[in-house]
Amino acid sequence: MALLQIYKRLLKHFGRQYWWPADTSFEVIVGAILTQQTTWKNVEKAIDNLRENDLLDVSSLARVNLRRLEKVIRPAGYFHQKAERLKGVCKYIYKNYGDDLDKLFSKPIPNLREELLSLNGLGPETVDSIILYAANKPIFVIDAYTRRMAHRLGITDLDQYEDLRKYFEKHLPNDLELYQEFHALIVELGKNYCKTKPNCFLCPLRKECQFSQ
Ligand code: SF4
Repeated sequence: MALLQIYKRLLKHFGRQYWWPADTSFEVIVGAILTQQTTWKNVEKAIDNLRENDLLDVSSLARVNLRRLEKVIRPAGYFHQKAERLKGVCKYIYKNYGDDLDKLFSKPIPNLREELLSLNGLGPETVDSIILYAANKPIFVIDAYTRRMAHRLGITDLDQYEDLRKYFEKHLPNDLELYQEFHALIVELGKNYCKTKPNCFLCPLRKECQFSQ
């Protein structure tokens, strides 16, 4: 089954998702860092706390006391590690770009990606989420749901992040909105049907799926 066909089927089934759930590009960055190894509900609590404490901007997070930040983002879990990462990323951005995220995001994708990947704690999934949803540039985000869907549907047995990203980008039109929606739809599929133990009965991809139970 072609990737574009899968996209259309998921879009018809779930409708548009309008990701990322954030008010600003900076909130996307914060959310992408906090969402590692936790649920979105917990991330929302941590972001609300940041907002209530007037910390939801680059300069405040670059200067905040680390212990205070740990307390504020505690609902997101792994708060020692995440506070350090969040502060580190904001310090870097503030030092090099001030509050001007547009300046950072004006770079071509390969340069922006390399720069973000060099920051402590930012792996490819987090960086590509930031590029796709905060910088609004077309790069395909791979996560555990994408990998699982690709393998179960028999699309490809490629497993490495970069191999899968290139595969998706090669077989889809280079279209920002499509990339943004498709990733969100794959997450919906993974949460609702293509779970560790799949619920194939109601899955919109069931007829073409090799793994279907
Ligand atoms: S049919 Fe089952 S295994 Fe295949 S994509 Fe749907 S939920 Fe996953």
